[in-house]
Amino acid sequence: MTQQLNTPPFSGRVHIIGAGPVGLLLTALLQSTEGFTVRLYEKRREYTRARMVHLASFLVADSLESYRVDHIDGENIDAVFEPAEIDDGIAFRQSIPTDLSMLLHRWATGFCPLNAIESSLSDLIDERGAHNVERVPGIVETKDAIAMLEPGDIMIDATGARSLLRDHLLPTQSPPETDANTVNIRLEYAIVVTFLYSQAYDCNESCKYYKNAENTHYKFIPAVGRVYYDGAVSHVTGIVNITAEDYAAMPAKFDGEWLRANFPHVAQSMDRFIDKIKDETHGEILGDLEIVRIPLNLYRARNATSRQWLAVNSEHPFSRSPVFLVGDSAIGSPYFQSISLGFECAMYLAGLLARRDMPLRVMFDEYELYTYKQWLRVYMRSKMIKHNKDLFECVDDPAALLEKLHIY
Ligand SMILES: Cc1cc2nc3c(=O)[nH]c(=O)nc-3n(C[C@H](O)[C@H](O)[C@H](O)COP(=O)(O)OP(=O)(O)OC[C@H]3O[C@@H](n4cnc5c(N)ncnc54)[C@H](O)[C@@H]3O)c2cc1C
Repeated sequence: MTQQLNTPPFSGRVHIIGAGPVGLLLTALLQSTEGFTVRLYEKRREYTRARMVHLASFLVADSLESYRVDHIDGENIDAVFEPAEIDDGIAFRQSIPTDLSMLLHRWATGFCPLNAIESSLSDLIDERGAHNVERVPGIVETKDAIAMLEPGDIMIDATGARSLLRDHLLPTQSPPETDANTVNIRLEYAIVVTFLYSQAYDCNESCKYYKNAENTHYKFIPAVGRVYYDGAVSHVTGIVNITAEDYAAMPAKFDGEWLRANFPHVAQSMDRFIDKIKDETHGEILGDLEIVRIPLNLYRARNATSRQWLAVNSEHPFSRSPVFLVGDSAIGSPYFQSISLGFECAMYLAGLLARRDMPLRVMFDEYELYTYKQWLRVYMRSKMIKHNKDLFECVDDPAALLEKLHIY
């Protein structure tokens, strides 16, 4: 990195705060890139989040066609990205070391427990035998993060949705105003019901409609896919739209029995749907139903870098050393897309940091533009899904349906 304004030359040291999936992937990528030493900070002692997540196939795409295979996403990609940008991303994927690339391919085959992704990445980093990654256990406070940033260091915030540094990237606020650097759109409140099912099973839009035929109010809308380790087992994630009042009255996590006792109408929609799957395919639910209630938010950091600090040229460490947000700390989206976007951002950032001759201001501009394009892409996809869900929920009520249609 060439010297810019008051920024010293890059020392090679990168602080990555947060060893969730995205911080770990970025660490593994930088670990195998010459000239980097990484300090990886994590507050959790163990990886216990067993919820199943789905990685998009575009993460392992080897051509433009395979990159844009999702029919909703494909058109958005064409609208937002230049073909050369996609080609660069594909070329980067092809440069990923085999040990890591094999893991990505495996996870992209089906639903996978989040902690299996985290543990595999963590083990891979430890087992590579390289000495350029240092683990630092414990909570990093904002003041610690600012104090440990020495001239020439790079700091990456991978601390997730409640980002440690997002609000601190605006130099004018002191103390920073909460969410001043965040655009947040609440799409809906929902319960997310997940379970494993003992049969290979698929559910298209007509299946979603007919299995909800008697669910007049609460509709159970599933995403179904195989699990990554066994093509004969399906993972079902059902979303049921709930009101703000329902949301406020529910605990963060609960099981099917709690739902049946406390929200029988919501539970009935779920149970009717599941019974119909069983009648049709004669399979069984494996294990328990797991239910969380969450606000489905779509958000982005207005600044995903410390570019504003560079502009004020002060004595603050953020004016001297670059800070980047990556993963859920930069962009968050519902409908099972966030990790994939976070992984792709990590790949892009690793590629950018490796270009040592790039002036910092240009690097900031490139990263901001990239995250903004990813935002446009996921915004369009999420709005489309939400709109389609809204129409689906009133498809038998023409007046309500017409109310939601805007033609010209
Ligand atoms: C019910 C549910 C289902 C989901 N399903 C999917 C799905 O199917 N597909 C998908 O793509 N996404 C899914 N997601 C979203 C996905 O889990 C997140 O996008 C992903 O975990 C974000 O990864 P991350 O590394 O950016 O952040 P996180 O996973 O939040 O990791 C952040 C890490 O930073 C650490 N940390 C935080 N603060 C500090 C600090 N101050 N000091 C030290 N360490 C710190 C945390 O302990 C954590 O390990 C789902 C989310 C939910 C809630």
